[in-house]
Amino acid sequence: MFNSLISTIKRWHSKPTQSDSQEMAGSAAKKPRTKSKSPSKPRRVVIPRNDHAISRRDISRAALTVMKRLQEAGFQAYIVGGGVRDLLLNGHPKDFDVATDATPEQAKQLFRGARIVGRRFRILHARIGREVIEVTTFRGHHSDGEEHEAQQSEHGMLLRDNVYGDLESDAVRRDFTVNALYYTTDGFEIHDYTGGMDDIEQRLIRMIGDPATRYKEDPVRMLRAVRFAAKLDFDIEPGTAAPLKELAPLLRNVAPARMFDEILKLLMSGHGVRTFELLREHQLWPHLFPDNAAQLDSPEALELTRQALRNTDQRIRNDQRVTPAFLYAALLWPAINSEQQFLMDKGIPPVPALAQAAQKITSSQLVHTAIPKRFSIPMREIWDMQSRLPRRGGERAFRLMEHPRFRAAYDFLLLREDSGEIPKGLGQWWTEFQQADEDGRTQMVREAPRNSPKGKGRGRRNRGGRRRGAKSGDSAS
Ligand code: ATP
Ligand code: MG
Repeated sequence: MFNSLISTIKRWHSKPTQSDSQEMAGSAAKKPRTKSKSPSKPRRVVIPRNDHAISRRDISRAALTVMKRLQEAGFQAYIVGGGVRDLLLNGHPKDFDVATDATPEQAKQLFRGARIVGRRFRILHARIGREVIEVTTFRGHHSDGEEHEAQQSEHGMLLRDNVYGDLESDAVRRDFTVNALYYTTDGFEIHDYTGGMDDIEQRLIRMIGDPATRYKEDPVRMLRAVRFAAKLDFDIEPGTAAPLKELAPLLRNVAPARMFDEILKLLMSGHGVRTFELLREHQLWPHLFPDNAAQLDSPEALELTRQALRNTDQRIRNDQRVTPAFLYAALLWPAINSEQQFLMDKGIPPVPALAQAAQKITSSQLVHTAIPKRFSIPMREIWDMQSRLPRRGGERAFRLMEHPRFRAAYDFLLLREDSGEIPKGLGQWWTEFQQADEDGRTQMVREAPRNSPKGKGRGRRNRGGRRRGAKSGDSAS
């Protein structure tokens, strides 16, 4: 289907048109904030009903209702963003967002119980049945707005973006060309102002306008470029990729709570491994998880990180539950392990050394991304249980199995064994213990060592390898 779609697009969308519109979109973003007239208009390409493959049947009833009600009240209404993009790629959109020329207040009148949310970027949440549809008002050029409606920080970061405009200005305020395609049931056309159809065909993530300026306005766009490239299996267009490395430190200016949300979208949407590799390639990873990044010269740390992401991707594919607690536990573990070893070398016993290491590495991560308590508490329990799993004597094994975090801690133990951090063996014991009947378990406990020898279960096979914060094989401090 996709190929035929593309061939029909081609008839409508010749190359020169795309570069024209790209240039114009670029000049729109680069334009200094003056009170002069808006930048020149990008060229609109309309793909009529018969020349694209989107049908209203692909769109959720709630989104159709929202569009219809807006149109009946005399407003324009379009599906935009991931909904259009994913349908063109034959995928299943997560949700449908609607763009309109109605202000949030005007749109609110049309939907009972609708709420206006957001300060930085005000949008309407319209509830239709159980579905919530995000309705956004067309964004305009900042030069057209009042000072208080659009604000930038000294780094060029957008603090507010509530200047309203028309469809054209809305298109060039969006992030990537493939996210700026508009579909309307009023004529069933797709409107493309930025060359998005061509980029879908060429499988490219291309920033609208000047990439560096757009990243400075909102550094999260750097993560979004990687996220969409990984999810869609697209390339990042070279000009869009070029500034990433240099601008990556701007991620420090993003609120930790927003970073946490973005990280979940990056790593817990089923494409975590590919996303991780791309984040490393573009040198963004050290700004998300610096303590993890500092350990990745160690093959075990790299393997543990990859394996944790691989497992997460797999579980998502199988519709199994995934929790950020487990993933964060894995990402921070190599640094904790290394720090614990450092403290033990100074004579601190293993259990308090682990607690201190966990405290230190968690606090340093919180500077970059928030970790809500409902995840940080189980994360710590997973770590704590790593020193309890080897000690199985008496009633201990039975009690441990009752612990609410047992399953996660056991999975974590297997992950550590698989990555080569610790020798295999204990994981198998616990597998058999869970499968055994009551008598079998009693027998197993009787035969298990009462207390594992020092280091077993937490011991490091490769003592000379990974060191605290060390980049390569230099000696530990
Ligand atoms: P998905 O929902 O599948 O992750 P999406 O493209 O729908 O992808 P959303 O985060 O839901 O992404 O955003 C909806 C649309 O809003 C985007 O497609 C894009 O057009 C615009 N958008 C979102 N975030 C930004 C941003 N930071 N800068 C510019 N435009 C943005
Ligand atoms: Mg979306």
